[in-house]
Amino acid sequence: MMESNSLLRLRNVVKQFGSFTALHGVDLDIEEGEFFTIVGPSGSGKSTLIRLLVGMDEVTSGEIWLRDKRIDQTPANLRPTCMVFQSLALFPHMTVGQNIEFPLKLRKEAPGKRRARALELLDLLRLPRDYYDKRISQCSGGERQRVALARALAFDPEILFFDEPLSALDYRLRKTLEKELKDLHARTGKTFVYITHSLEEAMVMSDRIAIMNAGVFEQISVADEIYSAPVSRFVAEFMGEVN
Ligand code: ADP
Ligand code: MG
Repeated sequence: MMESNSLLRLRNVVKQFGSFTALHGVDLDIEEGEFFTIVGPSGSGKSTLIRLLVGMDEVTSGEIWLRDKRIDQTPANLRPTCMVFQSLALFPHMTVGQNIEFPLKLRKEAPGKRRARALELLDLLRLPRDYYDKRISQCSGGERQRVALARALAFDPEILFFDEPLSALDYRLRKTLEKELKDLHARTGKTFVYITHSLEEAMVMSDRIAIMNAGVFEQISVADEIYSAPVSRFVAEFMGEVN
């Protein structure tokens, strides 16, 4: 079952909710270090897919491989290489430092080590070090996003999963954070799997894009090719909505 060297592989992944089929046998290969984006309209199955990947839900059938390990039956807390970043999952009553260190505390790392790692991550996210003692409630929207990213990176996960992290933000902040995410991807060398319903956002950030529609991938290719050679009427029309 090891026919490729990709970091993450999906083989014929099906997800049903009762009699409704949300994913119709999805195949996917994601390479190490890629910024890979899944884009598609609301209800196309993007969140369902990411929930399977991080172990928040179980596949109905099919296989998910991370390197040489089959992980589709592995519980979420035993998939230490995967981590979802959800912007609104910060603890508002705690400080920035406490938020970033939370996953390290769960792992019972020593306080000194945790603090050192948190400060390193503040540097990486270009937040001033004195934010360590600042409360989340005192941070701006953009700063909160950076803290959430720092916390996701505290695990040192192999893959970072994002489910529409910017969709609730206003246009200007979204554009700024798109740039920062792309930059962070370049600086960390991590594999990013990013979900959005905005093809424009996908085009700006990604190495490759998968277009999802009604539980199947219509097209998987580099951004340019989606423009120059859409494989289906759906892809062409979906692009048309952007322009
Ligand atoms: P997207 O993230 O692309 O907007 P979702 O993955 O959330 O789409 O949903 C895909 C389809 O699966 C939708 O039709 C949705 O109603 C359905 N669905 C998602 N989760 C459940 C669930 N827990 N029970 C029943 N149907 C679900
Ligand atoms: Mg969704």
